[in-house]
Amino acid sequence: MGDSKNYRRKFFSDHPVCCFCGGGRAIEEIEHIPPRFMFINKHRPSGFEFPTCIECNRASRKTDTVVSFLTKFASIQNLSEKYHSDFEATAKGLLRNCPETYDEILSGRFGNRQEEKRYKKTHNEDVVIVSLGPKQREHINLFGLKLTLAAYYLVSGNIASSDAYITIYIHTSKNLIENTIPQQLNFLGEFHTMQQGNWSVPDQFSYRYGSTDDKKNAVFQFLMHNNLLLSTFIFDGSADEKSRLKLNEHLTVGSLRAVNDVKRNPFPSISMSYEQT
Ligand SMILES: [Zn+2]
Repeated sequence: MGDSKNYRRKFFSDHPVCCFCGGGRAIEEIEHIPPRFMFINKHRPSGFEFPTCIECNRASRKTDTVVSFLTKFASIQNLSEKYHSDFEATAKGLLRNCPETYDEILSGRFGNRQEEKRYKKTHNEDVVIVSLGPKQREHINLFGLKLTLAAYYLVSGNIASSDAYITIYIHTSKNLIENTIPQQLNFLGEFHTMQQGNWSVPDQFSYRYGSTDDKKNAVFQFLMHNNLLLSTFIFDGSADEKSRLKLNEHLTVGSLRAVNDVKRNPFPSISMSYEQT
């Protein structure tokens, strides 16, 4: 008990400022991203804990459920029987907290099942194909935004400023199966994973990154359960430098708002649309 209090006190003094909203707010809580639910039986190594204000922490609550479900779902055939109850609990959480996204995932299943059967015939391998609808994309973008801001803080020691640009590319099991993952980021080298002592989770979460010498701009790849791959870029240079980037679409720290999922939710939905490349 005393240990966890000491840990908290030390964490708060080492990381006094929320790393998600541009450096304007003091730490109020400790954020675990990727979240505990994403790991089988919530068994998560430490090392990815981040200072957050309450608002930034709450913004991704539903999103954590959606992304945890999606990543576990596509690897369900690799999970042994004893983990199925963990998966069921994740599915129930999704149905309860994000009914719209749940419906969207179910309605996308039919076409995928046909494809899965074809794949089984030709490759003699069980796969689960996930294709994403707009609701799922919105959640994954929010998740990718937070994960990028967190990882940027971790590797550079900098809090991204409120006008940093962030872009996110999403690749799913479908891209992995069809071999349509762009190879341009392979220069980043080996993936790292979270590690606590001798225990690590390479099958559940891994990442790699590179940055410019001034650490203002960085690129990340995050791989979850070997089926959801996010390639993300953060540009936090001068306004001049950013204006030369000619990005079609980007997010900023200001995009960090909860995704509206329950129809009666009084908060307006953010509109972010991303074309998959
Ligand atoms: Zn914040």
